Amino acid sequence: MSASAYVVELRGVSKTYPGGVTALREVDLAVGYGELLGIVGPSGSGKSTLLHIVGTLDRPSSGTVRIDGHDVSRLTDRQLSALRAERIGFVFQQFHLAAGVPVLDNVADGLLYAGVPLRERRAAAEAALTRVGLGHRLGHAPHQLSGGERQRVAVARAVVGEPALLLADEPTGNLDSASGAGVLDLLRDLCASGTTVVVITHDREIASALPRQVHVRDGLLTEAGEGAAGTGALTPGVPRTEGGAS
Ligand code: ADP
Repeated sequence: MSASAYVVELRGVSKTYPGGVTALREVDLAVGYGELLGIVGPSGSGKSTLLHIVGTLDRPSSGTVRIDGHDVSRLTDRQLSALRAERIGFVFQQFHLAAGVPVLDNVADGLLYAGVPLRERRAAAEAALTRVGLGHRLGHAPHQLSGGERQRVAVARAVVGEPALLLADEPTGNLDSASGAGVLDLLRDLCASGTTVVVITHDREIASALPRQVHVRDGLLTEAGEGAAGTGALTPGVPRTEGGAS
């Protein structure tokens, strides 16, 4: 376990892709355990790049990335995969559920890489599906569910291993506003029960409903609420409970 106070700690992180596009510039970001925050910015601003780096799917060109207390530059690919499998959950705009597979097994598969036996995987999957309000739909295939329910399944799969960090990339992008609001409520509930949740979105309205917002523009980060004098160097967030959003 980690001694760090932050589940995400980026210091001076830059990312330049082969070909020369600089997608992130000297980014600092600290996310405390138990926080719920939105990372918001227009298309092309660097959100996906940030998500990939925070999710340990990509490495920065320079700077330090600590996730759950681990300096990722010191981890082998194998250790990095283990950190990702055990400590980070992902939810995407596309639900990425296996067609024709009952939702119970779709969620149980979220534990495959952790080497958990099938029986335990299924028990944990049932608990996770109950947690997202789908305990009565265990045997349904994804096509028998609404979009909002499918995204709930995807959230259950992301949290079945009880990750420290849940990264949600445009989680409501494919949903009508009522289903989207339901998924955001679910993310709030997960946060209230201890999971750190980072929502990446281009939608300012969604971000403004979250207790903390970080804006990305041209690869630079600014904390919402920082004065005009803000330098973009982020002070670490204080873990907050839900509510308090305006
Ligand atoms: P967003 O998610 O906010 O739309 P991205 O992180 O995808 O932004 O992109 C930021 C910038 O980096 C863009 O200019 C984009 O064209 C560029 N970019 C993203 N991925 C790559 C890549 N694999 N190779 C080269 N350039 C990339």
